[in-house]
Amino acid sequence: MVVYLDCAASMPLDPRVRDLLLTHLAGEPGNAGSRTHDFGARARRSVEHARDQVAAAAGAGRGEVLFTSGATESNNLALLGLAEHGRATGRRHVVGTAIEHRSVLEPLGVLARQGFEVTLIPPTAGGWVEPRAVREAVRPDTLLVTVMQVNNETGVRQPVEEIAGLLSDHPAFFHVDAAQGFGREPAVGHPRIDLVSVSGHKLNGPQGVGALIARRRRGDRPPLTPLAYGGGQELGLRPGTLPVALIAALGLAAELAVAEAEARAARCRQFRARLLSALAPLAPVLHGDQERVLPHIMSLSVPGVPAEELMEGVREEIAISDGAACSSHSETCSHVLGAMRLDPALAEGAVRLSWCHLTEEPDWDQLLRSLLALVDPVSV
Ligand code: PMP
Repeated sequence: MVVYLDCAASMPLDPRVRDLLLTHLAGEPGNAGSRTHDFGARARRSVEHARDQVAAAAGAGRGEVLFTSGATESNNLALLGLAEHGRATGRRHVVGTAIEHRSVLEPLGVLARQGFEVTLIPPTAGGWVEPRAVREAVRPDTLLVTVMQVNNETGVRQPVEEIAGLLSDHPAFFHVDAAQGFGREPAVGHPRIDLVSVSGHKLNGPQGVGALIARRRRGDRPPLTPLAYGGGQELGLRPGTLPVALIAALGLAAELAVAEAEARAARCRQFRARLLSALAPLAPVLHGDQERVLPHIMSLSVPGVPAEELMEGVREEIAISDGAACSSHSETCSHVLGAMRLDPALAEGAVRLSWCHLTEEPDWDQLLRSLLALVDPVSV
């Protein structure tokens, strides 16, 4: 049996979330916007219950949760949605980091083409950004600062709370792409964090649903403009019929993730320890500051073994990815490992292994045999 070790790309559904999803899909046809019958009322109640669950997980108010199709859309809405306000107020500078996900970097590229100036902060060699470096890049005309909570390639936590603290004397909006940390890490509840992107399928929930937390500051909502029009749902910021089953499933997934965070992390740490001892004979090089990594993501290289060969050599035992799945169709090396100034020879061999509390253990002995065959084919 091949064990799935690509949970940072997409996690398996929690069985309780799957049951709720299927119950809704099979038995609840209602549209949450319908006002004339109980089917609509039930759909609306399910959505509002999920809104409360996501708000609680985020340390936000229920009126601050907007449902979207996932973190990509949330990131686009947060970043591009502020452009009009930036133009109206003459604030045309944006600060991000060089290790953001493409769904942040590409909207930043769009803003640059629209005349905004974008400053990208490089990470330390350990794969995290210095809070001071972010603060020092902020200028009087800075509209927005965007920093991810956890890097999807290395699993390295970013100091978003410290950055929020350093922004207390500046009006710039602060957006956090929390796709990889939400529900797992402490809530992104710092009052100085204005916008938070959430993804269902990184939380043992379904694909195709997520949220944008848009926190009020002194009573005012972030001045977002929508990316699409029609229907008025989600305060007019994300119009379109709400996918009730997906939203209900996201709500439960978020609630369970927070309630079980410690137990899940403990299981992930145990898996990580076993994996590390299985790999030890290969002397792998781990990427990113290991004091700051989440316990379920590991980026590594086996010196002398290219990523393609490594993935191919273990494909009967484990399914893994080279760097990040989202960019694996491109030939280019990881922009994250590049920004960390990792030796290109090592970066070319980098693979990402990621698991979750539901992951079964592979046959460690067989895995080691397959790996040793790659390093030293004559010895096995
Ligand atoms: N941001 C990060 C850090 C991610 O890892 C991902 C998923 N690869 C996304 C955003 C996009 O999330 P979604 O798949 O929900 O659009």
